[in-house]
Amino acid sequence: MRTILMGPPGAGKGTQATVLVDRFHIPHISTGDMFRAAMKAGTLLGLKAKEYMDTGALVPDEVTIGIVEERLHEPDCANGFLLDGFPRTVAQADALGKILHKIGLKLDGVLNLRVDEEKLLARLTGRRVCRKCGATYHVLYNPPAQDSVCNECGGELYQRRDDTLETANNRLAVYNQQTEPLIAYYRNQGLLKEIEGDQEIDLVLQDILVALGQAV
Ligand code: ADP
Ligand code: ADP
Ligand code: ZN
Repeated sequence: MRTILMGPPGAGKGTQATVLVDRFHIPHISTGDMFRAAMKAGTLLGLKAKEYMDTGALVPDEVTIGIVEERLHEPDCANGFLLDGFPRTVAQADALGKILHKIGLKLDGVLNLRVDEEKLLARLTGRRVCRKCGATYHVLYNPPAQDSVCNECGGELYQRRDDTLETANNRLAVYNQQTEPLIAYYRNQGLLKEIEGDQEIDLVLQDILVALGQAV
């Protein structure tokens, strides 16, 4: 299965992606996770990405397209992949089309998670992430069993630097300007599947599985 999970910041892409890649045994390609890993490792890519991520701006297309192209050529992508948070601009979507054409692969579908803006802000500012395994929680909507401790691995939970109210607001504005046009882009290609993201995590997953034609 070759699929894109689209949606504004906080729509639940990462949460759903974790379950989907486990179920379908395909790699989870999250450009945000790739940039954060590079930042943690202190690489040049990480340093470059940090200055954009800290304000909520997008990392430049040429940088982002380069790392995705490299990743898609790795052997584990041959049987499918789930893109999360990429593409985010029309230029990235065009580039992805060319890369896949070159490899001889086609997208099966693009899932668009829809959630209202006020709810997105509450989701982003309450998000907590495990330092050790990356599992995602929410202080109100999906709290860990024990305060600030990961259910999966016991790791410490932290708040992302870009999940402050100010930066989250910037990211939503950037989304509206640069990423929202991709909905029409993929609709015109007949690939778009709209998913109601404002329901319980399990119900969102069920709708995604139905949209993908998979038994629930
Ligand atoms: P969220 O899950 O909240 O949407 P991500 O982890 O996907 O956030 O992205 C965090 C930040 O990483 C973005 O605000 C942006 O700075 C950078 N980023 C991630 N993916 C892309 C992309 N495809 N193009 C440009 N920048 C990106
Ligand atoms: P994205 O990757 O699209 O930015 P996340 O999957 O990280 O989104 O989810 C953002 C926040 O919202 C997290 O704190 C997560 O626990 C929470 N969340 C995800 N899905 C739901 C849902 N269906 N209902 C309520 N909260 C959710
Ligand atoms: Zn953990």
